[in-house]
Amino acid sequence: MATAERTFLLPCTCSARVSVTAGQAGGRTVCAACSREIDVPRLRDLAAYAVDQPRGTVVPRSGLGRGLVVAGCAVAISAAVLASSLVPIGGLFFPQPTTVTEIRAAVSAAPPTDVHSAWQSMARSSVARPATQEELRLQQFAAHAAGVANLLWGISGIGLVVAVAGAAIAASGRSVGGGAPQ
Ligand SMILES: [Zn+2]
Repeated sequence: MATAERTFLLPCTCSARVSVTAGQAGGRTVCAACSREIDVPRLRDLAAYAVDQPRGTVVPRSGLGRGLVVAGCAVAISAAVLASSLVPIGGLFFPQPTTVTEIRAAVSAAPPTDVHSAWQSMARSSVARPATQEELRLQQFAAHAAGVANLLWGISGIGLVVAVAGAAIAASGRSVGGGAPQ
């Protein structure tokens, strides 16, 4: 089926291009632009004039869509990577883990050096005492990191939306090209 509908573009002497199918191989066709008769090459010679898009021409919109998909994915992925690189810092120190499961999750998510310093500060801690200057500084830093991470997740989400919109534009571009062959 796909082979039978395959389209080839023959150059006419008037510089127009005439669309023929494999079924017309070895026959003759008429140029729509200048009405001249054109010899259609035999099937094995016709392959040189094959077109990738059997139906119609590619409209520029699909190119724009693909560009948006690439740009959107790039933004989404890089923002997500940045955000997730900040989250473990915030997750370890702020808010403080309250259950064993949370502590284990935070410890396994953090680099070994962070785990070591965290255990050292925990060992010095008692349940009811004011936070030390270092802990307050860490909390402020972690809160800041969490805010930046949230912002990055937002940017990542926007990138994802742009990528999806680009995919939709690319898809509609293809269907427009298929519906109106030139
Ligand atoms: Zn012509």
